[in-house]
Amino acid sequence: MDKKDFWISVLNRLQPTIKKAHFLTWFQNTTIVEKKNGTVTVGVPTTFAQNWISAKYDVKILQSVQELDSSITKIAYEVVGKLSDEGNHDAVDVRTISSVEDDQKKVRKVRDLNEVIVARGSSTRVSSQMMNDRYKLGNFVVGLDNRLPHAACQAVSSIPGGIYNPLYIYGSVGLGKTHLLQAVGNEILKKYPDKIVKYITAERFVTEIVEAISKRYMKSFKEQYRNVDCFLIDDVQFFARKDSSQQEFFYTFNELYDGNKQIVLTSDRAPSELQELDERLKSRFGMGMVVEILPPDFETRLAILGQKCAEYEMIVDPEILYLIANNLTGSVRGLEGVLKQVSADCRLFDKVPTIRSVAEIIKRTNRAQKIIGYDSDLDEKAKIVKSAMDVIQIVASYYNVTVEDVIGKDRHGDVMLPRQVSMYLIKNELGESYEKIGEGFGGRNHTTVMHACNKTAKELRTNLRLVKTVNAIKRDMGL
Ligand code: ADP
Ligand code: MG
Repeated sequence: MDKKDFWISVLNRLQPTIKKAHFLTWFQNTTIVEKKNGTVTVGVPTTFAQNWISAKYDVKILQSVQELDSSITKIAYEVVGKLSDEGNHDAVDVRTISSVEDDQKKVRKVRDLNEVIVARGSSTRVSSQMMNDRYKLGNFVVGLDNRLPHAACQAVSSIPGGIYNPLYIYGSVGLGKTHLLQAVGNEILKKYPDKIVKYITAERFVTEIVEAISKRYMKSFKEQYRNVDCFLIDDVQFFARKDSSQQEFFYTFNELYDGNKQIVLTSDRAPSELQELDERLKSRFGMGMVVEILPPDFETRLAILGQKCAEYEMIVDPEILYLIANNLTGSVRGLEGVLKQVSADCRLFDKVPTIRSVAEIIKRTNRAQKIIGYDSDLDEKAKIVKSAMDVIQIVASYYNVTVEDVIGKDRHGDVMLPRQVSMYLIKNELGESYEKIGEGFGGRNHTTVMHACNKTAKELRTNLRLVKTVNAIKRDMGL
């Protein structure tokens, strides 16, 4: 078996254990560079992929490799840029790996450890809601306005059923209540794997009660809460006007509370402001610790954006983050929404986000009229770029070299970069063909141009300085 076939066999074993989207993203265009002395060196196309795969999938890869060759004891990684070139023969196209399509069920088995634990105490007829393992206390950005709820959640996670019981967190939408609530659950499960954590939204609780009553299995409904150690209930304002559900919830609450089980609740308002809720429930809700979560201030918004960029593995010019943080002041969900859109545009169109393109996104998603920190007049005045020569002129003046330098044959370091950036922009912004660009640059071969464009695109994924440069140039181009 040659190295490539060996890798395909490994990928076939690996694929059912990894979520499809992740598998396709991270293992596309990978290969085996070397296999000797007990080590397999996996070739990956980018530094991002290398960091991610080695951090997340190292053990799984080693296990799959060992199933085929037990003499291997170590996996190493190496970035091989040319793997992402189209038609590279070493790179494995993972879209061809068998059964990628129908892996949903298999993945659940391997991935959802939480679900197994969460559901253990439940009757088979009543399901438990899944927690998202992305929500952690560690990736919740703490600022002045959410320090208290975060600290309370930390305390509850280290000593469930301690002094902060029940813990009641309230605040308006998109401020991180669900994040904190599930983070408590995830944290407790990590620290105490034997504990049974139950997460449910009040809305779902009501639906389940209604169903249990109509199908006559109230007994098993009640039973499922008997063994719970930590009960997390989201958006309790939903109980308003649901009298029989309130009753049932009241019993469940009391039983757990009397058994010293931890209860955490969230809501969009303070307990006293919950209208049409049983007075007894209101007073129970306020019995332990009540904390409000407030919209984050500018610095915290900026820090959250930074954290999300790291999660999306995206490099964004800080100026753009300022623009987003300045304009989206209400909820964190709004901040995240804009950033997700920016990231999608980046990935789909392989473009570097600019102040102007992000301002457009903010306008579109928030129906904002005026964007703070963005002067559209400046852009109106920018030179309208129509030809390749316009682009070359702007790039040349930005780098302080001449047009002749950019087009010429000199391979000096100072002119190579402006040349590559010009080719990249002419290709991406004007949509010119590699052949045409080659002709314009003194009759160069189209593969040379392609190489320059790919190199720049790749560099833009990791090099913040280049991102800033391309941004500034694009701004001069009126983009
Ligand atoms: P809520 O339940 O209050 O409506 P969520 O918990 O659903 O809000 O939060 C909305 C989004 O914002 C989630 O993706 C969450 O991860 C994110 N988020 C909110 N606050 C923070 C924070 N302080 N740090 C990091 N992410 C946050
Ligand atoms: Mg929520």
